Amino acid sequence: MSGTPSSTSAGTPGKPGDDAPVGTEGTGDDICPECQGTGRIEGRSCEACRGTGIVNKGIGGA
Ligand SMILES: [Zn+2]
Repeated sequence: MSGTPSSTSAGTPGKPGDDAPVGTEGTGDDICPECQGTGRIEGRSCEACRGTGIVNKGIGGA
């Protein structure tokens, strides 16, 4: 792991594949398009969803 330290708020950390922080109005869990919800890509943990297979996406957006 290398990057910026981000420990502002406890709870669910944001994921690279998230459209918005978890809990944002109008967004919700969705299958990660990068790994199709498997959480893995070619045997490695998916970075977009941090291996969870779930990302936070906007709902009902145009
Ligand atoms: Zn993924």
